[in-house]
Amino acid sequence: MEEILLILFGLIIGSFLNVVIYRLPIEKSIVKPRSYCPQCNQNIKFYDNIPVISFIILGGKCRNCKAKISLQYPLVEIFTALTFWLSYSFYFSISPVYTVFTIIFLCIIVVLAIIDFKHMILPDEFTIGGGVLFLIYSFFNPIITYKSAFISAFGSALIFAFLYFFYLKVRKIEGLGFGDVKMMILLGAFLGIHKLLIAVFLASLSGVIIGFIFIIFKGKDLKTKLPFGTFLGFGTYISVFWGDNIWRFIQSLSH
Ligand SMILES: [Zn+2]
Repeated sequence: MEEILLILFGLIIGSFLNVVIYRLPIEKSIVKPRSYCPQCNQNIKFYDNIPVISFIILGGKCRNCKAKISLQYPLVEIFTALTFWLSYSFYFSISPVYTVFTIIFLCIIVVLAIIDFKHMILPDEFTIGGGVLFLIYSFFNPIITYKSAFISAFGSALIFAFLYFFYLKVRKIEGLGFGDVKMMILLGAFLGIHKLLIAVFLASLSGVIIGFIFIIFKGKDLKTKLPFGTFLGFGTYISVFWGDNIWRFIQSLSH
């Protein structure tokens, strides 16, 4: 019963995350006005705004103007519900508070990953704002020490800042965005050293693979910009749940 309520709550929060993803990059208020269709500006009735269900009933189209509604909406809702359920299954028995912070952290990660994918930006509200929140939480975090949080947050941000300036000055390209540098504070603050290393490793690996696919199949070159925040988001998501296992697996290889 709790798990059904949890999944329903996850769907509703996912619906809110869609609003944040849409409105934050274009500087619109998140609470006002009410949801409306970006095509015809018609307010969306509450019964057309039910997570996933409304999308299916409406056939993925606005009731008023029949404009297509992006598949992003139901996907983010389902993915958020999955995040709630995974966080609960992995961490509730260890600490309910930690479970809540895991959910908040991953909601921020999902929002950042999608905004970076769509707009190539990582808003400070989430990178810096989230970083401060999770640095404070690191003093109460039952999984990692605050030392691990601070070292990985600022150590990795320093390394990324160095890489950022290296690319900019030496190679004259923006290999990383400065948003990625700020995002490392958020990631390090919650993940700690081991999980952060796994997250960055998975992000780089997936970035290289996707980069090669782009070069081979889409005729892009090595200077094509990829949203690294999206890859960091992917690596982080995996690492939050499976980072310790991956870390132990890598250690077992070296013995
Ligand atoms: Zn419409």
